[in-house]
Amino acid sequence: MSAQPPPYAWLNGGVVPWDQCVLHARSQGAFWGANVFEGLRVYRDEDGQRQVFRVQDHLDRLRRSMKSLHMEIAYTDEELTRACMDLVLANDFEADAHVCVVAYFGLGSTFDPMGRTTETGVHITSTPVPRSAAHASGVAATISSWRRIGDDTMPPRIKTGANYHNSRLAQHEALRNGYDTALLLNQQGTLAEAPGSCVVVVRDGQLITPPGTSGVLEGITVDTVARLAEEQLGLTLQHRPVDRTELYVADEVFLCGTMSELLPVTSVDRLPVGDGTPGPLTHALQNHYDDAVRGLGKHPEWCTPVPARTGGAA
Ligand code: PMP
Repeated sequence: MSAQPPPYAWLNGGVVPWDQCVLHARSQGAFWGANVFEGLRVYRDEDGQRQVFRVQDHLDRLRRSMKSLHMEIAYTDEELTRACMDLVLANDFEADAHVCVVAYFGLGSTFDPMGRTTETGVHITSTPVPRSAAHASGVAATISSWRRIGDDTMPPRIKTGANYHNSRLAQHEALRNGYDTALLLNQQGTLAEAPGSCVVVVRDGQLITPPGTSGVLEGITVDTVARLAEEQLGLTLQHRPVDRTELYVADEVFLCGTMSELLPVTSVDRLPVGDGTPGPLTHALQNHYDDAVRGLGKHPEWCTPVPARTGGAA
């Protein structure tokens, strides 16, 4: 990510200078991470036209996260989509961009961070995110000493900022120990997910990922991978619990998430995955994914063009 802050953000109804996109320190969103959010990607297609990938699927998941937290916001999906586009146009990054839509709980009338409040707001920020070098070379992963949070404590299905404390513990531990990322096991001891991505394992030509009941966010990228694998390669993505040692004996492993896209995992706990280089199925799916996010292939409906003007603030 760039060291320079972007010029603009979006806060509660309009585009604002980046520095003015602030919450009060005692707001529940800031104090507890009491928010729900989505990270979306905006890609340039072959003609240079910007396309937001699977925007409605992200907003549907945002609404599901909000429902679980008894949260309501003042904006419709159409307004949120327009807000994202207004911000993308205002920032006008040359590169592909990542957009974070965050719905947060506010201060409340008693300023008690634990108090019940219906006061909510929305902020949206966007940064240019060129493709990671690891897309080609892969990442070295380790099984974290931290367990993934569970549905009966901090449900990973709800995409709330507070959950990322667990992700941070795992990711920072992995970095300190000389790895690129972590893989977290769930409370049952089977594979859950990476700090910010789902995990797909390839064994004997079969694609496998832990189900939504394994302590994972129900990923949109892994769903895209499932659809592309079926349509382009005739392979069905199996959802079943994955043992730790299956990672050690897998032919291929890759991470998938909106931000990380499809990232090959080339070693787990210093054991090479396959021959220690990105595998052929990972590579094929990366290519199909690239086509899909740029509006090529069978699903143009996944890509929403950013119009030159949306009629909103800029
Ligand atoms: N798990 C976690 C914890 C994540 O933060 C993400 C990224 N949103 C994912 C999985 C992948 O989800 P998606 O493909 O919808 O981006």
